[in-house]
Amino acid sequence: MNLEIAQQALKQYFGYDSFRPMQAEIIQSVFNKKDALVLMPTGGGKSICFQIPAITMKGVCIVLSPLIALMKDQVEGLRANGIDAAFLNSSLSSSEQRRVEDDLLGGRIKLLYVSPEKIVSGGFLPLMRSIDINLFAIDEAHCISSWGHDFRPEYTRLGFLKKQFPDVPLLALTATADKVTRRDICKQLAISDAGVFIDSFNRANLSLTVLPAQKRIEHIVRFIKDRPNQSGIIYCLSRKNTEKIAQRLKANNIKAEAYHAGMGSNQRSKIQEAFITDALPIVVATIAFGMGIDKSNVRWVMHYNLPKNIESYYQEIGRAGRDGVPSDTILFYSYADVMMMRDMLNQGDNAEVKLAKLERIKQYAEALICRRKILLSYFGETLEKDCGNCDVCKNPPQHFDGTVLAQKALSALVRLKEGVGITMLIDVLRGSGRAEVLRRGFDKIKTYGAGAAHSAADWQQFIIQMLNTGLMDIAYDENNVLKITEEGKIILFGNKKLQLVKMSSVRERLAERKKKPKTKRQKLGDELFETLRDLRLKIARSKDMPAYLVLTDATLTEMAQKKPVTPEEMRDISGIGEKKMELYGQIFMDVIIDFLSKKSNLAKGSTQKITYNYFKQGLTVDEIAAARELKSSTIYSHLAVLYEQGEAIDLTQFVSKTEGKQILEAIKQQEEDPIKLSTIFEHFNEAIPYHKIRLMVSYYKRHFGGKN
Ligand code: ADP
Ligand code: ZN
Repeated sequence: MNLEIAQQALKQYFGYDSFRPMQAEIIQSVFNKKDALVLMPTGGGKSICFQIPAITMKGVCIVLSPLIALMKDQVEGLRANGIDAAFLNSSLSSSEQRRVEDDLLGGRIKLLYVSPEKIVSGGFLPLMRSIDINLFAIDEAHCISSWGHDFRPEYTRLGFLKKQFPDVPLLALTATADKVTRRDICKQLAISDAGVFIDSFNRANLSLTVLPAQKRIEHIVRFIKDRPNQSGIIYCLSRKNTEKIAQRLKANNIKAEAYHAGMGSNQRSKIQEAFITDALPIVVATIAFGMGIDKSNVRWVMHYNLPKNIESYYQEIGRAGRDGVPSDTILFYSYADVMMMRDMLNQGDNAEVKLAKLERIKQYAEALICRRKILLSYFGETLEKDCGNCDVCKNPPQHFDGTVLAQKALSALVRLKEGVGITMLIDVLRGSGRAEVLRRGFDKIKTYGAGAAHSAADWQQFIIQMLNTGLMDIAYDENNVLKITEEGKIILFGNKKLQLVKMSSVRERLAERKKKPKTKRQKLGDELFETLRDLRLKIARSKDMPAYLVLTDATLTEMAQKKPVTPEEMRDISGIGEKKMELYGQIFMDVIIDFLSKKSNLAKGSTQKITYNYFKQGLTVDEIAAARELKSSTIYSHLAVLYEQGEAIDLTQFVSKTEGKQILEAIKQQEEDPIKLSTIFEHFNEAIPYHKIRLMVSYYKRHFGGKN
């Protein structure tokens, strides 16, 4: 078996042009009958690694998957691509199970998804013995390790697979596995010689932003109103908060529901279902939400509270943008959260490790360097360049001399006998008239009100910076009161200067970056995207399946950009395989053509329109020229204008595909602006007629925008 066949299958069934680098290596290793451990981030494309071998090799692939809900989704997705797949788990009736078994024995299934309970059950081994298995794929393989967070006892019994089927390659796949878990997986599956494939954990399509927690709700509302129709998840810690936030969003006319473990399972699955099928765009949830869902078009994820460690944070933001389309993540950060978390973790097992992990995410949230660098280094990877897609990269911090400011805070702290926490220190600095301040006589100290020029939010940030530079400490064992350090004393007594980050640069992050106004072309693309989305939703509803299984957001985005109107152009769109083409190609082309003709700004009765009417009646260019007493070259230029404006004209009837490609290359290389036809004419030594060049230039303009 070779990769070329695999590549063909990728195009035919999934509509993708090429493998991602690691996918190709893994598939080759399966073809060589080798076992492998695959570590790829969520959305990295793990499924393709076993699905393509399953389809192209003789026999059937057994996929072990721990989540029943996910299984159904995956099987549906495969069937939508014309692949014979089925699943076996406890949700099926016995007659349904028998049907699947019959299909299996009859060789009518290429991929069979099974639950852990099923695969270790007594009856399953004889069934596996009577079929031709080409591959075992163990999805979510970290479930095998009691170190991991999703431990499944049945997974530890999977060692029998390799013993019973030594010649069948086995693939263990996961998105989370530290070294210990990795070793555990190989040991328990008895695949000691497995190749190990570790993909980069960088999810470049996810933007990373951390914002101060003050006025979270207002920010969230603004963010959502800027992106109507987008799907998103807001994570928060307490059940009460999920309900409160959902309520606030609803009060702002935003469709959102709370989701937490305290709700009935019926209601929970209702909400999950609505979210998956795009009937409900936003869910406010405790971390329990999102585990068993594969929805690829989650466009943003927010953390209302600080997550307890970087692993959870990364896993949760990873639920955004699995389709590779740019997606946003926002973490709201406050010191109050850190302290609450500390108290919580302190009371549980393994407190020391957990507190150390909390410290790392706190450092991440307070970072003044590229956040992605910090994240990746946490997972043992280094990023060469700053990412350009995090808030720090987008708004690099600006410094100022903060010595006097720090002295005010430190001096107040000393006068308060190092016996207050952050909130009280800020109140005193700002001269608050709060009862407790007055009762404790803090309004009498010399620095009372000395920092009134800055808001409480700014002070919070300054004090965080002072904590980070080691001027103060928090005494966690003394009710979180602040203590001044030796370094703090040096600053206080004026023996050293201190640089602080200007709050205005933080504030700029808060005010969403002013976006460049959209071009006409982009606006048209956006509008078409919405039109296509509506169509997709209609189709999804009629088939009772999630919209992203009909076509992904990535596919719709490309369609809205390239506006395919011929079968050939449609097949070029990533994600349009043969089955999707057959099912949806025409419907989507019809809608695009209709959209374009409505948007066409040709005046009625314009000369191009008259040409077009003839053309649509089936006349050739020469016939139209004759009928209109015009030159053929003029008719061609009419057609070029029409095409450029988005009319459905199949250019391949005038320019062959190979010739078209050559001309297109020449256009792309040309540096002149506007494009000169004569230069291209000469480039080909006058061997290609003008009208073909003219048509390809309009092709270029329509599909690549750019030069005029
Ligand atoms: P994972 O299981 O690793 O989270 P998936 O297998 O669900 O990731 O893949 C994530 C998305 O990327 C899916 O929409 C999938 O169809 C798409 N994808 C996978 N491989 C390719 C590829 N070679 N080219 C384009 N898209 C791909
Ligand atoms: Zn960055």
